[in-house]
Amino acid sequence: MDEDFPVIVAGDGCVLYDATGEAYLDGTSSLWCNVHGHRHPTIDAAIRAQLDRVAHTTMLGLSHPPAIELAERLVELAPPGLQRVFFSDNGSTANEIALKMAYQWHHQRGEWWRSGFICLRDSYHGDTIGSVSVGGIELFHSLYRPLLFEAWATEPGDAGHMRALLEEHGERVGAVIVEPLVQGAAGMLVQPPGYLRAVRELCDEFGVFLICDEVATGFGRTGTMFACEQEGVSPDLLCLAKGLTGGYLPLAATLTTERVYEGFLGEHHQFRTFFHGHTYTGNPLACAAALATLRVFEQERTVERLQPKIGLFAELLAEHVAPLPAVREVRRKGVMCGIELDGFPLEARIGHRVALEARARGALIRPLGDVVVLMPPLAMRPDELRRLVRVTAEAIAAATGASSGVEGAAAA
Ligand code: PMP
Repeated sequence: MDEDFPVIVAGDGCVLYDATGEAYLDGTSSLWCNVHGHRHPTIDAAIRAQLDRVAHTTMLGLSHPPAIELAERLVELAPPGLQRVFFSDNGSTANEIALKMAYQWHHQRGEWWRSGFICLRDSYHGDTIGSVSVGGIELFHSLYRPLLFEAWATEPGDAGHMRALLEEHGERVGAVIVEPLVQGAAGMLVQPPGYLRAVRELCDEFGVFLICDEVATGFGRTGTMFACEQEGVSPDLLCLAKGLTGGYLPLAATLTTERVYEGFLGEHHQFRTFFHGHTYTGNPLACAAALATLRVFEQERTVERLQPKIGLFAELLAEHVAPLPAVREVRRKGVMCGIELDGFPLEARIGHRVALEARARGALIRPLGDVVVLMPPLAMRPDELRRLVRVTAEAIAAATGASSGVEGAAAA
């Protein structure tokens, strides 16, 4: 089988085309970020219109209308209490900013010793050193341990364990950071209902901030605009990226409360400023794409229209994927899905082989080790969703030497 990468030259809706003219379903939303499909006319037009004004100006000491409008819109949409917006340009930096803000806030109150963090075991918050410090994926993170700051990992889903950690280290903790409801890169691990709420209550009890990393879960992916909503939780810091621009351009935002914001105010000579500014922070083209993305959510009632698709996705997975002998577990929340395969040695590279089989059948998926990830764009049509799941089932069957029971169905 050909192991070369397809060279993608075009996209339309939920389909990508390579240089040879082959068409593929975008089964992982171009790395978990496309929302309304590729080349959406509203988003395309918004970027072109902004291009006719100005492509980039700095946000250091200046601002521009798309950033101002976007900040206002995000505050309206976000869980209550999040009133301040700090832009950056990717998910790792959104988290890095939240971690630094939490630390600096405590420091400026005189509690400089609150320099540690609590994170979930197997968490993933990005690839920069700060976000790696609160990450727990051995393959990506273990090499860098000598470079990292202090973080204590808690058992996901076990509020009792988090309480024990807070009782032991609470005085030294600045914030708890979580991926709410679903830990994506860990293999789509879904948390039990009530866990996020319990974490929020523990943070309040011990006087530490709660950072919710909604880089992957935000913008409808779990079935609501933000995952936090499902547990009625407002974090102290909310990190957004990926779907923020509909998956068009790099942009991120860290939202926070008035209380956190006020901790950075003071006289000039006190230097309480949050000194953190990336060159392309709040890029105008990206902000215009984000505003258009949010407009499309409204105009197309995307979250409302997603609900039956989530039901269909669940049914299809139960029918075609879960019964396969190689499948240990299908984990899903909204349109975030991880299919864990069982019993294959590392050398088998089974997830990778499934992805190659799927590609040969017209769908692009990207595994996390032995977990096959499906994360279709919210815009994926029911017929495309059917094809994606059938192709995945066939690919798993082909790669694992089993019968999928759906032969021929992919062509339907
Ligand atoms: N946080 C989460 C939960 C993520 O899933 C990711 C990326 N997959 C990141 C942070 C990092 O985002 P970026 O790649 O934009 O830096």
